[in-house]
Amino acid sequence: MKMIRIKGVGVAPGIAVGRALVINRSLDTVLKIKLPEAKVEEEVRRYRRSLAQAEKEIQQLEEKAKALFDADIASVFHAHLLMVRDDTFQRTIPEAILRQRVNAEWVVQQEVAAITGKLRSAKEAYLRERTMDLEDVAKHVLSALQSIEHPSLDALQDKAVVVSHDLAPSDIPYLHHPNIVGFAVQGGGRTSHTAIMAKAMAMPAVLSTPGLMDAVKDGQRIIVDGSQGTVILNPDGATLKEYASQKSILEERQRQRLGAIHAPDTTRDGVDFHLLANIELLDEIHSIRDMGGSGIGLYRSEFLYLSMYPHIPSEEDHFRTYSRLLKAMPDRVVTIRTFDLGGRKLAREVLHIHEDNPVLGMRGIRLCLNYPHIFRPQLKALLRASVYGNLHIMLPMVCCVDEVLRTRRLLDELSAELAAARIPHKRHIPLGVMVEVPSAAVLVDTFARFVDFFSIGTNDLIQYTLAVDRNNPKVADYYNALHPAILTLIRQVAEAGRTHDKPVTVCGEMAADPLQAAVLLGLGIRRFSMEPFNLPFLKETLRAASVRDLEPVIMKALALPDAKAVGEWLLERLSQQIPEGFLCPL
Ligand code: PEP
Ligand code: MG
Repeated sequence: MKMIRIKGVGVAPGIAVGRALVINRSLDTVLKIKLPEAKVEEEVRRYRRSLAQAEKEIQQLEEKAKALFDADIASVFHAHLLMVRDDTFQRTIPEAILRQRVNAEWVVQQEVAAITGKLRSAKEAYLRERTMDLEDVAKHVLSALQSIEHPSLDALQDKAVVVSHDLAPSDIPYLHHPNIVGFAVQGGGRTSHTAIMAKAMAMPAVLSTPGLMDAVKDGQRIIVDGSQGTVILNPDGATLKEYASQKSILEERQRQRLGAIHAPDTTRDGVDFHLLANIELLDEIHSIRDMGGSGIGLYRSEFLYLSMYPHIPSEEDHFRTYSRLLKAMPDRVVTIRTFDLGGRKLAREVLHIHEDNPVLGMRGIRLCLNYPHIFRPQLKALLRASVYGNLHIMLPMVCCVDEVLRTRRLLDELSAELAAARIPHKRHIPLGVMVEVPSAAVLVDTFARFVDFFSIGTNDLIQYTLAVDRNNPKVADYYNALHPAILTLIRQVAEAGRTHDKPVTVCGEMAADPLQAAVLLGLGIRRFSMEPFNLPFLKETLRAASVRDLEPVIMKALALPDAKAVGEWLLERLSQQIPEGFLCPL
């Protein structure tokens, strides 16, 4: 058999080598069977028994997910429970069985395919990803109807890599097994549940691998390189040897890095820096300290919303999550960003906001200020949770000082309500803004009078400064962090932070790229926030760097005409400052 390499999107780093465990429970294999009149009622009863069985299974999965992971992941199964209890399964399908006089499996497949067909053509990625949830629920019902169980993993002896069209959330707790070492998935995307959960489980994973399912054979050898985004089927001896040695080098280097996570956060020439974590799931808290993070630089609270969709989290939902985050790190900075909804995240579905250009529309802080029923419970819960630690509140997509002032007034009002009800809370919580809209960067000195800290969101700052959609592959070449305009804005914010004594963090992806992080250091940034698994790499990079050497190189870069010239200049001058193997292509 020939060796096959498939390029995909690496969503969780590391190398996994094992035998392919193909999970292919497809909805397509259902047959249509006409029923005699006398059998139709019995068919509906059989369907209802299966539905009850499916509901029980999903409930059990929710319990298991709660024990293994955290409320965010468990809430996915709660959403599945709501689906299995809704009209489609409870009413539409049994009525269709009676009307069409065909077997339940066929009707389930047809009804679900009709809905998923519509969802799949939705513009919004997260709506398309709801397709998977619905199919997952349908698979439970079909399995119960056909008495198909998940194959038992008890006998799994060898290391296995799970290969599938798509991994549904309900597959994940089931796949939590010591011999399962990686995921290779044909579908999925960066924002899919699969990506989020693979990261939370720290499992090497590659998604979006065209042709994978046609090419793979169950039980064949497979390599998943989550760092490079490559899947190799049936690797030959030389490739296996090469990856085995790469894997042991990576593991050894990671061991060394982890051994060094308590080394001081200081550059080679004695300049202190701070490493913080970006998290989306509560489950990731544990890895922050293990990876050497000194606090949370960005908790993207909208993930709470996304995982509870279509329900708006209540004040209690917010409070439970934030108090757990703070209690887990009472002595560390915990920066919770208020909802960054809108743009591509849910505004249309939940708030019925229709916009031609949502990325420049009702989103981030402006959406929150316009929808107090969403913002007030969040702010109130933040105030209540503040007593458990060192909470910092951060506002996304701020473009005008007025947005900060209005939020402060709202916080004061809510604080007065809490005080009247004798509910404990802190009155003075540091309030900061994301600098991700160019106006905030340009007016940073003005903002400094009204805020306690800044965090530069380079992902959006690049998008808005260069007028390049960060999700559009057609203009991906224009999306370049090293554009002199971006570097100039960052330097200006870093300087304003120093002048006004307001901490400045970078929490966009630039902070997690070794070369770009070195550039940030040269621009005056000292606080870096990123996904926990990147922390040890960055620590190594920054400890090896020298600010004294970097500064003149970066100052010269600012005067270069474009990103290409900057990239070439930096590669030539900084190669010695970046640990071998970490220079990313420009
Ligand atoms: C950013 O824009 O850089 C950022 C950190 O926010 P998000 O990626 O959530 O938009
Ligand atoms: Mg952003």
